[in-house]
Amino acid sequence: MSDVDFVNAPRSAYLHIPFCHRRCFYCDFTVIPLGDKASGGSGQGSPSIKSYLTLLHREIAIAPDGPPLSTVYIGGGTPSLLTPSQIGTLLENLRSRFGIQYGAEITMEIDPSSFNRNDLKGYLDAGINRVSLGGQSFEDKVLEGLGRRHRRHHLLESINWINDFYRRGMLSTWSLDLIQGLPGQTLGAWKETLALALETSAPHLSIYDLTVEPGTVFAWRNNRGDLDLPNEDLSAEIMRCTSSILQKEGFARYEISNYALPGHASRHNRVYWSGSGWWGFGQGATSAPWGQRFSRPRTRAEYQNWLEGQECNQLEPSLKLIHTTQMTFDEQLMVGLRRREGVDLSSLANLWGWDHNQFEEYMSSLRFFWRDAIERGWLKNHGWRYYLTDPDGMDLSNQVFVQMLLWWDSLPEDAVVLSNFEGHQCRVAGRELVVD
Ligand code: SF4
Repeated sequence: MSDVDFVNAPRSAYLHIPFCHRRCFYCDFTVIPLGDKASGGSGQGSPSIKSYLTLLHREIAIAPDGPPLSTVYIGGGTPSLLTPSQIGTLLENLRSRFGIQYGAEITMEIDPSSFNRNDLKGYLDAGINRVSLGGQSFEDKVLEGLGRRHRRHHLLESINWINDFYRRGMLSTWSLDLIQGLPGQTLGAWKETLALALETSAPHLSIYDLTVEPGTVFAWRNNRGDLDLPNEDLSAEIMRCTSSILQKEGFARYEISNYALPGHASRHNRVYWSGSGWWGFGQGATSAPWGQRFSRPRTRAEYQNWLEGQECNQLEPSLKLIHTTQMTFDEQLMVGLRRREGVDLSSLANLWGWDHNQFEEYMSSLRFFWRDAIERGWLKNHGWRYYLTDPDGMDLSNQVFVQMLLWWDSLPEDAVVLSNFEGHQCRVAGRELVVD
C-alpha cells in the first residue's frame, strides 16, 4: 500500500478510447480516425487499437491505490469500435486494481453502425449497465451533413436492441445524444426530432448545442459563409422548445445539456460537475484526484513515452511535472452553475481561502458583473447559493459565464494566489497553475 490519501481518493474512473471510424465535421476532440471499416478485433485499425490497449492497461495497473469505484465511464472517440472481450478485459483490470462497487454505474458510449446486437449483448455481459448512444439526428441528410457514418436506419435498429435489453433488465438505463442548432435546422424539424426522441422511450437525453470549433470542417465552411446556422432568435426558440417539451414529458433538466426521468440522472456526470475527484486513463484524458487536475499527453508517442518512464503508484505525481491544472475558482463556479442546484459561493470562497473582507469585496464585484443577468432573471439566488433559471438562464448561460470570466480577470493578483499547495505558493496564470 502506498502513502497516498486513500480515503479521499476518487471513486470514479474515466477511460478514453481515442479511435473513430472518421472525424465528424464538427468535432475537435483528440481522435484517431481509422477508416470506415475499422474494428478492434481484426482487420483495419486493429493493430493500432491493440497496441493502445496495452498502454491503457499499463496505466491502470500502475495507478495509485484507491477505493472501489462507484462509477466507470468508457468514452471517446468511439468505444464501440472495441470488441466485447476488449471492454471486458478493461473492466477486469479496473476491478483488480481498485475493485468495482456492487451497483456501480458502468457506462459506455456507443455509436450506431459500429456494433451489432451480439456486440451489445457482449458489452452488457462484460459488465456495462448503462449505454450512451450518439444519435445526433434522425435525418439522413442531416447526418450526412455532419459527416457521421451512421444513418437513420442504423440509429433505429440500435435503439430497438437497446430497448429490448433494457426491458429485460440487462441495462439499468440508457441515454440518447442529440445536437440542436444544426445548419438549416428549423423549429418544426427540431420538434419532430424531439418527438422521435420521446418515442424511443430513452429515460435520459443529452441535448448539446452545436458549437463551431476552430480547425473543423464546420469552421472552414462557416468562414466561407457556407454554414447555414440558425440565427440568434431561432436558436433561442429551439432551446426554449427543448426545455418546455421535455419538462412536460416529465424530464428534469439536471444540468444545462442533460435531461432525465426520475432516477435516471447520470451519476458519473454528476461527479464531474460536483467537483468530486475522478481517475482518468488514456491518451489526452484528464484526471482530477485530490482536487488537482492532470492532463495526459495528447499524442500517442508522447503518451507512450510518458508511460514508459512511470513506476507503480507514481503516476499522478509524475504528471504534475508535465501538465498540472488546478480547478480555479472561476472554473469551479462555472462547473457548479451548470447544475440545476447551482453553486454555494461562500463554500467555494472558503475552499479558496478568502477571508471575510476579500469575500465581501469580490462578491460585490461579481454581483456587479452579473447585474444584467440578475435583473433579467437568468440568475437567481437563495442566500449565497446561485443558480441559473430554466430555460432562460440555462439557455443563455454563456453570457453569464462571460461576465464571470471578466470578473475573474478583474480581480487583484493576491485573489488568485493559492497557498498550501504542497507547501508552495502558486499563481494561477490563465488556466495553468504555476508553482513558484
Ligand atoms: S464519433 Fe464522436 S468523437 Fe468521433 S469524430 Fe465523431 S463526434 Fe468526434
